[in-house]
Amino acid sequence: MRKNIVAGNWKMNKTFPDGITLIEEIIEKSEDLNNVKLIISPPYIFLKDASNIAAHSKIGIAAQNCSNEESGAFTGEISASMLKSANVNYIILGHSERRAYYGEKDELINQKIKLCIKHNITPIVCCGEVLQERESGEHFKVVSNQIKGMFFGINPEEFTKVIIAYEPVWAIGTGKTASPDQAQEIHQFIRKIITDSYGSEIANNLSILYGGSCKPSNAKELFANPDVDGGLIGGASLNANDFLSIAKSF
Ligand code: PEP
Repeated sequence: MRKNIVAGNWKMNKTFPDGITLIEEIIEKSEDLNNVKLIISPPYIFLKDASNIAAHSKIGIAAQNCSNEESGAFTGEISASMLKSANVNYIILGHSERRAYYGEKDELINQKIKLCIKHNITPIVCCGEVLQERESGEHFKVVSNQIKGMFFGINPEEFTKVIIAYEPVWAIGTGKTASPDQAQEIHQFIRKIITDSYGSEIANNLSILYGGSCKPSNAKELFANPDVDGGLIGGASLNANDFLSIAKSF
């Protein structure tokens, strides 16, 4: 059966010592947590230390991005194979901030997903509509197109490595959260798209996370939905107690 997952996206936050302290605190406070996989996603420069510190824990380490190129003259970029060699086993891809501020499109994200799979890294692939698309009722079409574009050419066996995060852009960092019914409705829709493309066994094993102002006060009602398998957490993942409180909401 599919896993419950809570993943923390730190974005561009924390100094090096503060980041290390947070990782250590999360590891210490999560020792007795058995029904959920925890993943933390610090900025690139913390990743090697994070993977060393987490090596004997159950915490997974994720990068927040990777290059769409394998290697070579791409100044400032970090490749999937480099991340793998630093024991990074997850990469968040297609986050709405990468789409909005760095112009990432489904085709580019598709190239990155393929590199993750090639290097045996689990991509945490984000999708979600902006407010105007939600208000005009286009959110199903938007999410469906994103999924079809991002997973173009990915075969069923490759797809078994994937995690999807549904993140309505209007809920990210805004304090507005999708209602439990809104989350369930679109998670169920996403699972149906995956069923149609890859079959029900693969779709039923897929973890679909909700992201967008998920916090200790609303995680329980979101995670209670049958198609919500956990969360991708931004702001609330920067505090160990809040992050762990969300992880204990299943
Ligand atoms: C995110 O950026 O993935 C996110 C869900 O952020 P927040 O929890 O702060 O809304």
